Order: sequence, then structure tokens, then C-alpha cells
Amino acid sequence: MSIEVINLINTSNKKCYCKTWLEHWEKFGEQKAGLCAEVSCQKKAIVGAHVQKSDSSDSSWYIIPLCKEHNNLFGQKISIKDSIKLVPANKQKTCAKKEVKYIIKTRKRFGH
Ligand SMILES: [Zn+2]
Ligand SMILES: [Zn+2]
Repeated sequence: MSIEVINLINTSNKKCYCKTWLEHWEKFGEQKAGLCAEVSCQKKAIVGAHVQKSDSSDSSWYIIPLCKEHNNLFGQKISIKDSIKLVPANKQKTCAKKEVKYIIKTRKRFGH
């Protein structure tokens, strides 16, 4: 079984607290990016792409690692490997949360 996702159109201008969306995926998916997430693709993943699940009871945005070619297939369905985690693109659930914790910790350390 593989999961089908839809590659969202032109999300490259979106930013989070991580350097890149691929780094975001590695951090919160707790995996190192290797091959492209597409089920039969053997190319190296170079971008963290924004996708939605295609069985759309869930409309959240997720990040998956894709090669350049698959990342360019905007608006198309892609079947991805089982081993690939869908990491929420929502900053509030991921890096923004971490950032806040970090700020609180730092404040405590300096006695504020
Ligand atoms: Zn991030
Ligand atoms: Zn690919």
C-alpha cells in the first residue's frame, strides 16, 4: 500500500523557522532525506514539497521530500513510499512551537 498525495501549487515562497522545508521535514520526521518520496523514483530528494492527502477528509498541509522533477508536477497526484512520513507544514505544530520553548528556556537561564 502506498499513500496518494497532491502536490500543491507554487508554495516555494512560504517560509518557516527552519532553513529549508527539506530541513523542516528531516527535523520533525526524524529521518534523513534520501531518495524522492515517489514510490518508484530513484532520484535524490532535494526539496521539501507541500502536499495534501488526496483522500481529502484531511485538508492539512504536509511536507515530503521530492526530487526536482516530481516537485515540478504541481497539482498532480503522486503515490509515495510507505516509509515516508508526512510532516505537518503547520508551523504552530512544529518549529514555531520549538522556537517558543527555546525562548522560554533562554529567559529562565538569564533570570527574567
Ligand atoms: Zn520548520
Ligand atoms: Zn522523484
